[in-house]
Amino acid sequence: MRLDGSQMRHHGAKVGLMANTTTNEYARVHYAARKMLGASCEACGSTEALEAALRPTTPAARLRMAPEMNALYSIDPIDYFTLCVPCHRRLDFVELRTHCRRGHEYTPRNTSIKYDGSRRCLTCHRENEARRLADPKVREAKNAADREYRRRNPMAPEQRARKVALQRLRRKRGSI
Ligand SMILES: [Zn+2]
Ligand SMILES: [Zn+2]
Repeated sequence: MRLDGSQMRHHGAKVGLMANTTTNEYARVHYAARKMLGASCEACGSTEALEAALRPTTPAARLRMAPEMNALYSIDPIDYFTLCVPCHRRLDFVELRTHCRRGHEYTPRNTSIKYDGSRRCLTCHRENEARRLADPKVREAKNAADREYRRRNPMAPEQRARKVALQRLRRKRGSI
Protein backbone atom coordinates (compact mmCIF):
# COMPACT_ATOMS: atom_id res chain seq x y z
CA MET A 1 0.00 0.00 0.00
CA ARG A 2 1.25 3.45 -0.88
CA LEU A 3 0.82 6.27 1.62
CA ASP A 4 -0.80 9.29 -0.09
CA GLY A 5 2.12 9.66 -2.50
CA SER A 6 4.46 10.90 0.22
CA GLN A 7 8.12 10.51 -0.55
CA MET A 8 11.31 10.55 1.40
CA ARG A 9 14.66 11.80 0.22
CA HIS A 10 17.70 9.67 0.83
CA HIS A 11 21.11 9.99 -0.81
CA GLY A 12 19.70 12.46 -3.27
CA ALA A 13 17.04 10.14 -4.69
CA LYS A 14 13.34 9.67 -4.09
CA VAL A 15 12.11 6.56 -2.34
CA GLY A 16 8.47 5.49 -2.23
CA LEU A 17 6.95 5.09 1.25
CA MET A 18 5.16 1.80 1.82
CA ALA A 19 3.47 0.29 4.83
CA ASN A 20 2.65 -3.05 6.56
CA THR A 21 4.17 -5.63 4.22
CA THR A 22 7.48 -3.88 4.79
CA THR A 23 7.84 -5.19 8.36
CA ASN A 24 8.13 -8.81 7.18
CA GLU A 25 10.37 -7.84 4.31
CA TYR A 26 12.56 -5.83 6.70
CA ALA A 27 12.87 -8.80 9.09
CA ARG A 28 13.56 -11.23 6.25
CA VAL A 29 16.38 -9.25 4.69
CA HIS A 30 18.00 -8.58 8.09
CA TYR A 31 17.84 -12.31 8.89
CA ALA A 32 19.54 -13.09 5.58
CA ALA A 33 22.14 -10.33 6.10
CA ARG A 34 22.98 -11.59 9.62
CA LYS A 35 23.81 -15.00 8.17
CA MET A 36 26.42 -13.27 6.00
CA LEU A 37 28.06 -11.35 8.89
CA GLY A 38 31.85 -11.06 8.92
CA ALA A 39 34.04 -11.95 11.92
CA SER A 40 34.71 -8.35 12.95
CA CYS A 41 33.41 -4.78 12.68
CA GLU A 42 34.49 -3.29 9.34
CA ALA A 43 34.90 0.15 10.94
CA CYS A 44 36.81 -0.54 14.19
CA GLY A 45 37.77 -4.23 14.09
CA SER A 46 35.81 -5.17 17.23
CA THR A 47 34.62 -8.80 17.33
CA GLU A 48 31.81 -8.15 19.82
CA ALA A 49 28.13 -7.22 19.38
CA LEU A 50 28.18 -7.44 15.60
CA GLU A 51 25.23 -6.38 13.48
CA ALA A 52 24.28 -6.11 9.82
CA ALA A 53 24.29 -2.43 8.84
CA LEU A 54 22.89 -0.88 5.67
CA ARG A 55 25.66 0.49 3.45
CA PRO A 56 25.26 4.26 3.01
CA THR A 57 26.18 3.82 -0.68
CA THR A 58 23.20 1.54 -1.39
CA PRO A 59 21.49 2.67 -4.63
CA ALA A 60 18.14 4.36 -3.94
CA ALA A 61 16.41 1.91 -6.29
CA ARG A 62 16.97 -0.89 -3.74
CA LEU A 63 15.87 1.11 -0.68
CA ARG A 64 12.51 0.83 1.07
CA MET A 65 11.07 2.60 4.11
CA ALA A 66 9.66 0.64 7.04
CA PRO A 67 7.36 3.31 8.58
CA GLU A 68 6.69 1.30 11.77
CA MET A 69 10.42 1.47 12.53
CA ASN A 70 11.05 4.75 10.74
CA ALA A 71 13.98 2.96 9.12
CA LEU A 72 15.30 2.63 5.60
CA TYR A 73 16.32 -0.83 4.51
CA SER A 74 17.49 -2.54 1.35
CA ILE A 75 15.63 -5.45 -0.22
CA ASP A 76 18.98 -7.14 -0.99
CA PRO A 77 21.21 -8.69 1.74
CA ILE A 78 24.35 -7.77 -0.23
CA ASP A 79 23.72 -4.12 0.72
CA TYR A 80 24.62 -4.85 4.36
CA PHE A 81 28.03 -4.95 5.99
CA THR A 82 29.36 -5.89 9.40
CA LEU A 83 29.47 -3.28 12.15
CA CYS A 84 29.61 -3.45 15.95
CA VAL A 85 26.72 -1.83 17.83
CA PRO A 86 28.53 1.46 18.68
CA CYS A 87 29.77 1.92 15.09
CA HIS A 88 26.29 1.07 13.79
CA ARG A 89 24.69 3.71 16.08
CA ARG A 90 27.20 6.30 14.94
CA LEU A 91 26.47 5.52 11.29
CA ASP A 92 22.68 5.66 11.75
CA PHE A 93 22.54 8.75 13.92
CA VAL A 94 25.41 10.78 12.53
CA GLU A 95 26.33 9.79 9.02
CA LEU A 96 22.87 9.02 7.64
CA ARG A 97 21.52 12.39 8.71
CA THR A 98 20.39 14.39 5.69
CA HIS A 99 20.59 17.75 7.50
CA CYS A 100 23.00 19.41 9.92
CA ARG A 101 21.79 20.06 13.46
CA ARG A 102 20.70 23.54 12.44
CA GLY A 103 18.59 22.18 9.59
CA HIS A 104 20.73 22.84 6.50
CA GLU A 105 20.71 20.03 3.96
CA TYR A 106 23.96 18.13 3.30
CA THR A 107 23.99 18.69 -0.46
CA PRO A 108 27.35 18.26 -2.26
CA ARG A 109 27.68 22.06 -2.55
CA ASN A 110 26.94 22.54 1.14
CA THR A 111 29.25 19.83 2.46
CA SER A 112 32.96 19.45 3.03
CA ILE A 113 34.74 16.49 4.59
CA LYS A 114 36.76 17.04 7.77
CA TYR A 115 40.09 15.32 8.48
CA ASP A 116 38.33 12.70 10.63
CA GLY A 117 36.02 11.79 7.71
CA SER A 118 32.91 13.44 9.16
CA ARG A 119 30.93 16.07 7.27
CA ARG A 120 30.92 19.83 7.76
CA CYS A 121 27.89 21.98 6.88
CA LEU A 122 29.35 24.87 4.86
CA THR A 123 26.41 27.20 5.62
CA CYS A 124 27.06 26.81 9.37
CA HIS A 125 30.81 27.04 8.81
CA ARG A 126 30.45 30.33 6.88
CA GLU A 127 28.10 31.73 9.54
CA ASN A 128 30.45 30.72 12.36
CA GLU A 129 33.43 32.25 10.57
CA ALA A 130 31.55 35.49 9.85
CA ARG A 131 30.54 35.74 13.52
CA ARG A 132 34.08 35.00 14.67
CA LEU A 133 35.65 37.50 12.26
CA ALA A 134 33.17 40.26 13.15
CA ASP A 135 35.55 41.02 16.04
CA PRO A 136 38.16 43.42 14.53
CA LYS A 137 40.91 41.99 16.74
CA VAL A 138 40.19 38.44 15.61
CA ARG A 139 40.01 39.54 11.97
CA GLU A 140 43.32 41.40 12.17
CA ALA A 141 44.97 38.39 13.83
CA LYS A 142 43.66 36.13 11.07
CA ASN A 143 44.82 38.50 8.32
CA ALA A 144 48.28 38.69 9.90
CA ALA A 145 48.48 34.89 10.17
CA ASP A 146 47.36 34.57 6.52
CA ARG A 147 50.00 37.09 5.37
CA GLU A 148 52.69 35.29 7.35
CA TYR A 149 51.63 31.92 5.90
CA ARG A 150 51.69 33.38 2.38
CA ARG A 151 55.14 34.89 2.99
CA ARG A 152 56.50 31.47 3.97
CA ASN A 153 54.57 29.61 1.25
CA PRO A 154 54.46 31.78 -1.87
CA MET A 155 51.85 30.75 -4.44
CA ALA A 156 53.02 29.08 -7.64
CA PRO A 157 52.01 31.03 -10.79
CA GLU A 158 49.32 28.48 -11.74
CA GLN A 159 47.98 28.56 -8.14
CA ARG A 160 47.69 32.35 -8.33
CA ALA A 161 45.97 32.14 -11.73
CA ARG A 162 43.43 29.66 -10.32
CA LYS A 163 42.77 31.90 -7.33
CA VAL A 164 42.16 34.95 -9.53
CA ALA A 165 39.86 32.92 -11.82
CA LEU A 166 37.88 31.66 -8.82
CA GLN A 167 37.49 35.16 -7.38
CA ARG A 168 36.28 36.43 -10.77
CA LEU A 169 33.73 33.58 -10.94
CA ARG A 170 32.45 34.28 -7.41
CA ARG A 171 32.15 37.99 -8.10
CA LYS A 172 30.11 37.21 -11.22
CA ARG A 173 27.81 34.92 -9.19
CA GLY A 174 27.52 37.65 -6.60
CA SER A 175 28.59 35.36 -3.74
CA ILE A 176 31.26 37.80 -2.50
ZN1 LIG B 1 32.93 -1.01 15.38
ZN1 LIG C 1 24.27 23.90 8.95
